[in-house]
Amino acid sequence: MTHVSKLLAGLLLAGSIAALPARAAPGESDGDEVQVIRLRVGTEIVGVITPDGFDEARGVRVRRVDDDALLDIGFDQMLPEDARRIRAAHGYMPDDPDPILVDAMRIKFLDGSVMTGVILEQDSDTIKFKHGAGAPTVLKRSGVRSVEPVKVDALEVYDPEELYGRELAARNPATALDHYNVALYCESLQLWAHAKEHLAKAAELDASFKADLVGQKQKQYERRIEAGEDSELIAKAQRMARSDQYDAALAKLDEFLKAKPGSALRPDAEKVRGRIAKAREHWLGEQTIVYFFTHVDRAIRKIAAEPKATAKECRKRVETEVTKAAIDTTAKYLKVAPSDVQRVWEDAKRQTASPHFGSYGSGTWTLGLEGAMKGLTPEDPNKKADAAAKPAKDESLEDRIKKLLEEKKKAQEEAQKKGKKGGPQQPNKKMASGPQIADIPPTEEEWWVTLTIDEKTGYLTAWWAEHEANAKLYRVDQQPCVTCSGLGSLRYVNPDGQEMAKPCPRCKGLQFDRVVRFH
Ligand SMILES: [Zn+2]
Repeated sequence: MTHVSKLLAGLLLAGSIAALPARAAPGESDGDEVQVIRLRVGTEIVGVITPDGFDEARGVRVRRVDDDALLDIGFDQMLPEDARRIRAAHGYMPDDPDPILVDAMRIKFLDGSVMTGVILEQDSDTIKFKHGAGAPTVLKRSGVRSVEPVKVDALEVYDPEELYGRELAARNPATALDHYNVALYCESLQLWAHAKEHLAKAAELDASFKADLVGQKQKQYERRIEAGEDSELIAKAQRMARSDQYDAALAKLDEFLKAKPGSALRPDAEKVRGRIAKAREHWLGEQTIVYFFTHVDRAIRKIAAEPKATAKECRKRVETEVTKAAIDTTAKYLKVAPSDVQRVWEDAKRQTASPHFGSYGSGTWTLGLEGAMKGLTPEDPNKKADAAAKPAKDESLEDRIKKLLEEKKKAQEEAQKKGKKGGPQQPNKKMASGPQIADIPPTEEEWWVTLTIDEKTGYLTAWWAEHEANAKLYRVDQQPCVTCSGLGSLRYVNPDGQEMAKPCPRCKGLQFDRVVRFH
């Protein structure tokens, strides 16, 4: 345990400073002070809060300046900033105390589940991991996908009583101020009974110490203790939402609202529920798109890896199975219903992902001439030479220069051979005939079996993107064929010493690979 103690002491030192929010000076308002209270409906009330007209849980009673009428105004009817100002003037802090943040580790497992806590010990096979109250868990490394440092609410990792015990030992409070500060710390941990104890101790040591505020806080704590169970439940739902467990958090609140319709904390629970539901929508929209494409890729790769499936069968399966599989696995990963993921995916206004692409590669000709050329981004003919010389991935600078020189030489030779004088000679790249598909081997199935799984995946990804209505295609490009550098033909010298041309065996004369970009 000594290791844990040191660790905790370090965390607590940082935590205790962060946990002390600025407090408003007590009891400085009211009496005769005229206030302007702005209401959500857009009107204003100008008046004076009556001497005992402040109720922390509900609102204020105001004597209106105009006509001396008494009005009860609920905090939920005011603009939030006015409600906050009035409550702060009476020493009440926001309902949600600032969480105490600690450094922790988030472990993701191969099955997609996540655990947040602190690593106590580790060796090559296991990790001893503390999360929440109770004894640490020993995890097998073989089941772990990743470990990353995170800042989390201390209550996600530690037991609050444990944190309080350590803090008490570290601070050893002696003065009224010491006890008052420990009470505030307890407030952050939502340990209302301990908070009350320390406040009482502060009053006992110095009855004049922040007397108004201490009195108000005592009352607040008592109400919290009364509503302790409900309050803890709401706080727990908030913690769950902070670690992305939105559905579990909402279910918890719904259960509470149904079981205790008369709870004093009902408005709080409803407010928190609204916020969590909104946060869930935002999170779902974002996460769905982040993970959906990963699962599309996995589903396609799985099909591509089947050695016996023909190109035709694979295309058919990509059209009918991939989107559904990605919806299901994304939903499982995010622990939401497939219909949620489907709704986000099919929403025309969904967020777009980072750019993705798929290339038909050496199989572009299988689409036929029309299919291969459909919707291509028009290419500037003057740029074609540049495009052809553009480096393939992983090509070194030397290779590139060598290729450029060779092409230049080839173009010159061709120009010479044509032997026409005058007028700038167009290199043979712009041959009279454009892209075409020559009737030469291989057949589609002969070609398919020569591909690697990556190449099949690229081809099927492009196919999926062009057949999935919600994939949001934004551009279709042509990339010069790597075998013929986009010329469509290769040259050779025949037995008679004559230079001849034959269609490129890779692109069959098409000159390019079709690349589909989507997001
Ligand atoms: Zn080619």
